[in-house]
Amino acid sequence: MRKVYYIYNSKTRTYDRIYPTRRQLFFSVVRRFFYGVGILSVVLGGIYLFLGTPSENALRIENSELGAHYELLSHRLDEALDVLEDLQQRDDNLYRVILQAEPISPHIRKSGQGDISRYEHLEEMANADMIIENMQKLDYLRRQLYIQSKSYDEIIALCKQNDERLQCIPAIQPVSNKDLKYTASGYGRRIDPIYKTAKFHYGMDFSANTGTPVYATGDGTITSSGWESGYGLTVEIDHGFGYQTRYAHLSKASVKRGQKVKRGETIGLVGSTGKSTGPHLHYEVVNKGQKVNPINYYFMDLTEDEYDQMIQMSSNQGKVYD
Ligand SMILES: [Zn+2]
Repeated sequence: MRKVYYIYNSKTRTYDRIYPTRRQLFFSVVRRFFYGVGILSVVLGGIYLFLGTPSENALRIENSELGAHYELLSHRLDEALDVLEDLQQRDDNLYRVILQAEPISPHIRKSGQGDISRYEHLEEMANADMIIENMQKLDYLRRQLYIQSKSYDEIIALCKQNDERLQCIPAIQPVSNKDLKYTASGYGRRIDPIYKTAKFHYGMDFSANTGTPVYATGDGTITSSGWESGYGLTVEIDHGFGYQTRYAHLSKASVKRGQKVKRGETIGLVGSTGKSTGPHLHYEVVNKGQKVNPINYYFMDLTEDEYDQMIQMSSNQGKVYD
């Protein structure tokens, strides 16, 4: 409400009304304006002090949303690490066991974990803890994935090698079952058919008619094909992976030294050459320089019954052809 001023006039003994000058009016308006602004500032200041400015509030909301996203990210990273750990377990306990490879050492698997110096530059950031934690998880995941992919490369190489190994090592009978006449004598101490004394028999004898085909028992290279003292006409195959086989007393050898052969390929015919008392094949398997029992190297073409029969035949002490 507008104020009205009066002044006492002693001459007229009345109160005369005073009208403000333009200048006074101006300052009065200005003063009121600043009062208004002042009060408004105090009120708004108070509100902002307790509730924050709109931009601060927007930032605060954004910040809490970011925080929620970081937490979600952290959770997702944990899930990915769980999946990876499952893959690592399977790698160490299944694939590597099957392929006879050493498990990856925990030292390599966990390498670089706990090195936080590389995150120092992030420490100044808001939410630094959460950011560093997620960066650590992400880096760890990346490193583990790299190690795992290297491991799978190795597994693939081992599988290929294993395929080749399975193809090469002796694994079938050198004479087909249908061609076997009656018995075969096995590896072990036997009575020598000629000298009649106890002697170790280092191979397995397959009794069959002269001219029966003799098969390579695994892929390999012919290292010798010709006459050998006592063994008669003999073929030898190097299969690699530490394995050799020898086929003795042949009537004919159909391969030459240096020739590559596949499992099941005919390399010669049964005979009775050399120190022999009748047509048969004397078959030897050598592993890492030692003559071993061939009975363990027929796993590819024998059923369980046939294998039992073979065991019986090979333990037969009665008839050795040498
Ligand atoms: Zn023999």
